[in-house]
This record gives sequence, C-alpha cells and structure tokens, in this order.
Amino acid sequence: MTSQEKSWKEISPAGVCWKPSTEFLTGDWKTYKPIRDLEKCTRCLFCVLFCPDGAIHWKPEKEDIEFDYNFCKGCGICANECPTKAIEMKLE
Ligand code: SF4
Ligand code: SF4
Repeated sequence: MTSQEKSWKEISPAGVCWKPSTEFLTGDWKTYKPIRDLEKCTRCLFCVLFCPDGAIHWKPEKEDIEFDYNFCKGCGICANECPTKAIEMKLE
C-alpha cells in the first residue's frame, strides 16, 4: 500500500476494495490469532479446506501446514472445524 492509498479502516461501510485480495493484506483485521498445538495436529487438512481466506497452506517440503498471518482475518473457523481441537484462538 502506498502512502496515498486508504487503509481498510478508512473505507466506508460497504465500500468496494480497489485491489485484488492477493495485493490487499487483511491480516491486521484480526483480534484473535490461531495458534496450533503441533502435538494435537494430525495434518488432516480440514482447516486448509475450511479457511475462507486461503490463509492456511500445505507445505509439501515440510509435510506440514503453515498459517499465513498476512491474510488470516482471525475468524476462528479453522479452530471450530479442527477435529482434534489443535487450534486455539489467542488474543493478539
Ligand atoms: S484441522 Fe486441526 S488437526 Fe487438521 S491439519 Fe488443521 S490443525 Fe491439524
Ligand atoms: S482464523 Fe479464519 S482466516 Fe485465520 S486461518 Fe483460521 S479460518 Fe483462516
């Protein structure tokens, strides 16, 4: 974002974003941040499927998932859908 551009906080309600979502980082929307317990996680990938922002990625080289906090909005859907309750939403 350049200094002349408005941030999402300055856009009026129902305003239309002028950029594709890949260029508009939405990570600072969140109040709560998903934190994963590596011991509880079975790498089932449910959270990857359910995340509405595509903010959880499967990393084949690590054989593990990774949160992209630049885009995670903190909605908590991943924590809600995780079958082993491996994700906890923590206040930022
Ligand atoms: S849904 Fe839960 S157990 Fe499955 S990959 Fe995500 S964090 Fe791990
Ligand atoms: S909190 Fe919401 S946006 Fe963030 S990773 Fe989980 S499902 Fe995706």
